[in-house]
Amino acid sequence: MDKTAKVENLRDSAHQPDASSALRNEVYSPPESLARTDTDAKPGRLNFEPTDNPQKTQNTDGEKTFDSVARENGLDINETPGGKLEFSLKYNGEKLVLGNFENNDKGLKELGKTLKEFTELKRWELEKTHNIKIARPGDPAPRQQIGSMDGPPKQGKELALRDPRLKELLGIEAAMERANPSHKTGDSKTPLKFYFLKNDSFNAEAAGVAAFEPNIHGGPAIIVEPHSLDNSPVTEKDREDPKSENHRSIASLFLHELGHHSEERVFDTPQKRIDFYKRMGWAPIPGTRPEDMQMMLKGKEGGFAPKGLDPDAKWERFDKDGNVTGLVSKEEVARQALIKPATDYFEGPHEMLTEAVTMLRLGDGHRTHPMQTDQTLYSLAKEFDQREIDLNYGAGKFIRSFTGKLVPRNAENEETLRARERR
Ligand SMILES: [Zn+2]
Repeated sequence: MDKTAKVENLRDSAHQPDASSALRNEVYSPPESLARTDTDAKPGRLNFEPTDNPQKTQNTDGEKTFDSVARENGLDINETPGGKLEFSLKYNGEKLVLGNFENNDKGLKELGKTLKEFTELKRWELEKTHNIKIARPGDPAPRQQIGSMDGPPKQGKELALRDPRLKELLGIEAAMERANPSHKTGDSKTPLKFYFLKNDSFNAEAAGVAAFEPNIHGGPAIIVEPHSLDNSPVTEKDREDPKSENHRSIASLFLHELGHHSEERVFDTPQKRIDFYKRMGWAPIPGTRPEDMQMMLKGKEGGFAPKGLDPDAKWERFDKDGNVTGLVSKEEVARQALIKPATDYFEGPHEMLTEAVTMLRLGDGHRTHPMQTDQTLYSLAKEFDQREIDLNYGAGKFIRSFTGKLVPRNAENEETLRARERR
C-alpha cells in the first residue's frame, strides 16, 4: 500500500474554477490539483502584445514568439521607455528581472539564450547544494500508470521528459529552504529525483498536478505533470490571493510532495503508519481489515470517507457498523470531524498529515492556521516532523523554527518557538 503513487491535485480555485476530477483513493493514491489550466491555449504569434489577449492570433507550430516564450515560462513582459522589452517573473514577492531585449528576432534569440543560461545555472546550483537530481530528457523515466480505481495501477509506456522551466526550478529552490530534511535520502541511497513530463500524464485518471513515488529507478521521485504548473505562482508570496489557511504555489506543492517522502521515511512499517493515522482521528471503516487501509475520518459517531473521482463529490457517512448512512459535503466533514484538517485537502489520512506538515514547514501565517484549527493535529504534525529531523541529525540537535527553517535545539530557540505558539 505504500508503493502506490500519491497523486496531487491541490486545486487552485483562483485560477481554476472547474478543476478536474480527483481520483478515488482506495489504497492511498488520491489526488489534488493545483493549477490545471489553459493547457489548450495556443501561443500567440505577436512579437509583443501587452498580454490582455494573448490568444488573439495563432502561432504556427513550434515557432517561438516573445509572447509564447513568456507564456510558456510564466514571465511578465513590460515595455521599457527605450522601447525594449523587459522580461521578469515574480519570486518571493519580488520582481526578478531576466533582462531587457530588443523587440526583434535578435532580441528573441537573446531572451532564449538568457533563459537557458539562468535555467542551467539554477539546476546546477540546486543539484549541487541539496543533493537532489533533476531528470533530463532521455534519462530513464517513470512509466505511465494506467487505472487505479481497483487495485494497483498497471504500468504503461515510459514517459517522455522535458527540461524544467526556470520558475519551476525557483519553486524547488524556495521549497528547499523549508523542506529540510524531507528531500534527503541518506548517503547510501539514490538521491530524490524530479521528473518533468513532456506530453503525457503520469496517471491520466488522477488528473493531478504532481505525484510522489517512493521508487522510480531505485529512488524516490516527484513527478510533475505536463503544463500543470504553467499558471501557478512560484511561492506563497507571489500569489494573487494571498491566504494563510491554504497553500497554492509551486514551492508549496513541492513541499507537500516531499511530505509524502517524509512519510516513507518516518513510517518504516505499515503498522506504525496506521497507528499514527489513528491518533490523527482516522479509523479503519468497520468491517474492513486494517491492512486494507480503508479509513474514515471519525466524527462523533461513525465517520466519513471520500467517494468517487470528483474532488467536489460528497463523502460517504458511515455508522459504527460500517454502513453508509448518507452523503456529506467535504466542508461538512471538516466541521464534524473530531480532529480538524489543516487545509481543505484531506482525501485520506496521508493527505491530511502531509498538508499539516506542509503548513508547518511553510511557517509563519501558514503555521498559525493549523495551530489555531486543531491543537491535536498540530502537535502530531510537529511530532512527525521532529521524528524525521532526529532521524537525519540525531535526537535533540535541531528543531523547526516558526519560520519553517531548522535551528539548533537550545533553550533560546525553544523559548522563541514557545512564545510564537502562545500568541
Ligand atoms: Zn499528496
